[in-house]
Amino acid sequence: MKLSHRITHLTPSGSDGWEVFYKARGLVAQGEPIIELTIGEHDIRTHVDILNAMNKSAKGGHTGYASVPGTPELRRAVAERIQERTGVRTTAENILITPGGQAALFATHNAVCDEGDTALFIDPYYATYPGTIRGVGAIPKSIPARPENGFQPSAADLNANAAGATSLLVNTPNNPTGAVYSLETLAAIGDTCIANDLWLISDEVYDTQIWDGTHISPRALPDMAERTLVVGSMSKSHAMTGSRVGWVCGPKEVIEHMINLATHTTYGVPGYIQDAAHFALGQGTPLEDEVSAPFARRREITERLIATQNVVKASPTQGAMYAMLDIRATGMSGFDFANDLLDTHQIATMPGESFGTSAAGHVRVAMTVDDDRYDIALHTLLDFAATKAN
Ligand code: PLP
Repeated sequence: MKLSHRITHLTPSGSDGWEVFYKARGLVAQGEPIIELTIGEHDIRTHVDILNAMNKSAKGGHTGYASVPGTPELRRAVAERIQERTGVRTTAENILITPGGQAALFATHNAVCDEGDTALFIDPYYATYPGTIRGVGAIPKSIPARPENGFQPSAADLNANAAGATSLLVNTPNNPTGAVYSLETLAAIGDTCIANDLWLISDEVYDTQIWDGTHISPRALPDMAERTLVVGSMSKSHAMTGSRVGWVCGPKEVIEHMINLATHTTYGVPGYIQDAAHFALGQGTPLEDEVSAPFARRREITERLIATQNVVKASPTQGAMYAMLDIRATGMSGFDFANDLLDTHQIATMPGESFGTSAAGHVRVAMTVDDDRYDIALHTLLDFAATKAN
């Protein structure tokens, strides 16, 4: 039987740049002592108080169909959080609760792109971006963010690619690069969207992980609120990756259509998960700081160790749970470096090439193992790079 072109072409066939990751996972399954610095999963679990709130809600009976747009309490809490942090007036009607940020990325592109439309995104990129765009029948087109510009997209590159497109997807703080977009970059993004009449989809799932600079939501820039759809999530901010709860924030009329889409796709998020998320948001920034503190410490370790040598450069470790390391001085590709490091030292990292073309000659290190093991692993990686550079 024939399958749709859309589903069979969601991801390209052949090499997807994730071979090192799959190899490391295979070795772990065989019981090998691999240090995995690969994916964005915390080494702590969801806080027990959040689990207790989830348990209480489920036992209290919130296990039936939940309200599709999200419970009024959670929508209100998300709206308040956004208004407080951005200064932009936001009400529950601007919010749709989704099963995580990934579902929000799919829903936002579904809301603004027609079949065959061009949807822009920035390279290096989070792995699912092109597939999500193809999944709604649109055509992904990347815009480079270059290492020499701290992985911030330039106004020139944005302008050169925007004509005729429908949407632009940006992500700050950024996975995989660790860049936090400056006001100048965001202004260029806003100008490009206005000049080319683009929807802006702003993925802000790492908004609580800022080590340098300030998180600015582009929805707060002049004339941007009406054309911006913000993607948010509890996954990274509250170590709730498995709970699948996130949101879209956007103009009320767009959210109304997206509620209709949710009715025909996800049918909402379980009520006890939403109640747990509501409880978690009610704990405010102290809980968010507790969840992000390990990454702040490991970012310090990264900076300290990088400063002890001059082969590997870290660029720019301003936010999120990753360090993008420039290993071009070794003369190796990120792919060969990551493969060799895994074979020689049982340390798994992600080649920069897994995230597009702009991060070639880099490896991404997820700061997701305990501080001591992270310190040892990074030390080993730097010594390994030094031997390769000689
Ligand atoms: N956006 C970015 C940039 C991510 O790194 C991730 C997950 O790693 C997601 C979105 C999706 O997160 P979730 O669906 O768990 O909210």
